[in-house]
Amino acid sequence: MSGPRDWSPGEVPRRGAIRRILPVLLVFAVIVGGAVCLRSDLQNLLGTAPGSARAEVAAHRFYTGSGPLGGRCEGLPEELGADTGATLNALAHCLDRTWRAALEPAGIDYEEPEEVRLVGSPEEAACGTEDFDWAGIYCGGEGIVNVLVEDDPDSPDGREIFPMMFTLAHEYAHHVQAVVGISAQDGSEVFDEAWSRRLELQADCLAAATLRDVQPYLLNDLRRSLAYGTETGATEEVAAERRDSHGSFRSSALWMLRGQKAGSAGACNTWKAPEKEVS
Ligand SMILES: [Zn+2]
Repeated sequence: MSGPRDWSPGEVPRRGAIRRILPVLLVFAVIVGGAVCLRSDLQNLLGTAPGSARAEVAAHRFYTGSGPLGGRCEGLPEELGADTGATLNALAHCLDRTWRAALEPAGIDYEEPEEVRLVGSPEEAACGTEDFDWAGIYCGGEGIVNVLVEDDPDSPDGREIFPMMFTLAHEYAHHVQAVVGISAQDGSEVFDEAWSRRLELQADCLAAATLRDVQPYLLNDLRRSLAYGTETGATEEVAAERRDSHGSFRSSALWMLRGQKAGSAGACNTWKAPEKEVS
């Protein structure tokens, strides 16, 4: 992968260095605010028996009733990298339109996020300010999407900005999970990593589905970079933490491919998938 790597193996990475590779890693684009709180009965939760929480989520009409995802994004600046804010804001409007249209046939009323914040540092986000470095974060309680935008990339072909666009689409997917009712599991304070991985990989899949016609080549590049070893660019600690809560890079690439190929919510049903596909 071509991502910048400005420390050598074994050297303790600087905070800024970790940040710089974050969009490439798609790391810790997380949900907080109770969206991943689970029921206390984990056995029930993790099982696929009829009536279990996972079986319930897997059978949601979101997968069978939603309309197609994808489509070009009208209003996106021609030079994606010329003005990061303008590009990401235009994309946010497209994602609103895409999701509203897709959820309508399933009889689900789409609500836009309360706010989309493009932040220069985690402290400016609506939540998650104490968390480990992230590229984006969805504050479930407030319905606020945050994307970390540090430097203004001056790459007119959009290669630098596309990972941020993907992060935005990924956070939107978390918002949709909340709107649809997939992520809400009330009644427990237990954070379960297996549940989290299914949510996160689903968000990767849905993000790829929504961006499939927006920038197909850049999406291909990003997906391939994950499939072929970007993981080695992360510190062991970062990679392990990401793997536990978000799944491996390989799994991310797998679900992105499914979303990209099918362009449908039905292709992103991680709740039906065997454990090895969500590890
Ligand atoms: Zn996420």
